Amino acid sequence: MKDTPSKTRTRRTRTNLVHGGTKRSGWGELSEAMFLTQGFAYDSAEQAEARFQNAGPDEYIYARYGNPTVRMFEERIALLEGAEDGFATASGMAAVNGALVSMLKAGDHVVAARALFGSCLYILEEILPRYGVEVTLVDGTDLPAWEAAIRDDTRAVFFESMSNPTLEVIDIEAVAKLAHDRGATVIVDNVFSTPVYSDAIAQGADVVIYSATKHIDGQGRTLGGVILGTTEFIRKTVEPYMKHTGGSMSPFTAWVLLKGLETIDLRVRAQTGTAQALAERLSGHPALTRVIYPGLPTHAQHDLTRRQTGAGGTMLSFEVAGGKVAAFAVLNALEVILISNNLGDAKSIATHPATTTHQRLAPETREMLGIGDGLIRLSVGLEDQEDLAEDLLGALAIL
Ligand SMILES: *Cc1c(COP(=O)(O)O)cnc(C)c1O
Repeated sequence: MKDTPSKTRTRRTRTNLVHGGTKRSGWGELSEAMFLTQGFAYDSAEQAEARFQNAGPDEYIYARYGNPTVRMFEERIALLEGAEDGFATASGMAAVNGALVSMLKAGDHVVAARALFGSCLYILEEILPRYGVEVTLVDGTDLPAWEAAIRDDTRAVFFESMSNPTLEVIDIEAVAKLAHDRGATVIVDNVFSTPVYSDAIAQGADVVIYSATKHIDGQGRTLGGVILGTTEFIRKTVEPYMKHTGGSMSPFTAWVLLKGLETIDLRVRAQTGTAQALAERLSGHPALTRVIYPGLPTHAQHDLTRRQTGAGGTMLSFEVAGGKVAAFAVLNALEVILISNNLGDAKSIATHPATTTHQRLAPETREMLGIGDGLIRLSVGLEDQEDLAEDLLGALAIL
């Protein structure tokens, strides 16, 4: 195995996304090889014994522990995020669960933002308390609420830096300072911010998580996830938990995601440009009661967004007057934009959170989180901006 990238000069992001982490076999293949193997043969019994005692960074034992294609993906995404190391997982949820459960034990306390992806909320509200971990949920944009909730026995704080579907932006630097003052680890689910715009580690996050299913794949093919952090945390805390409990990424998935990383910078910047333009065009539309996009000056955390990620991202939400009936009519009138619940895809996707992704929440909770019956979430894809604008404005015109 030879590492391709030069060791003598630091390369820039776009170059790392194409070449970072590449390992070539003796054949010198140009494209990353897909090592579809669970096991690895040893030259001798002595070598097998030595590898089980102390496997080096590019020595493999079993695919649940590590695999060359998966390792290429981990190294490339760690370079993009500016993290020391990463562990690739079977899905985004395996990453969220792995990061939390690997570091927590009975008696620990966790503070988390309330506006969370449904499955994240399930881990925090249902699973962790079953094992004796106490969880306090706060309004993530309310810094005094974080300050009041974080205690001396708080081991971790957890939040989505940009919330789903109301796109509230949480101040990573400010929350990290409060957490670090009490010795707590800061774990950020950064999916909506995207690795392209993330500077989360420099801003104070200790651990960053992505569902690679979203922008990293970007073409709707695979489930995957990654946990990024210090080498110490990834290798001493995360790896033992993941490799013994089975949530590792498959080599095939890693290969798809390596190809996704080659184009992620171009895709996410183009999608963000279109999202910004669509948000501006929808603002003030008479059929809408709200347009939520962190890149609009009207957004409550617009200044924070400019500091934290520098861009509003690929997601926007808007609320139609007329509740569920009007929202369904708009969704059903769309011709280019698909009705689905994935996000970060090359295809633009519209979602009605109240009846799908957030259906299980109690109506009062939905109301508290601002998820009204007229709210539509839009994941902006790579289609022509004019076609998307015509599709949206045409659908809104029926109201
Ligand atoms: C999709 C998503 C997840 C879960 O990822 P999967 O790959 O579907 O398991 C976690 N957090 C956020 C914010 C997400 O959008």
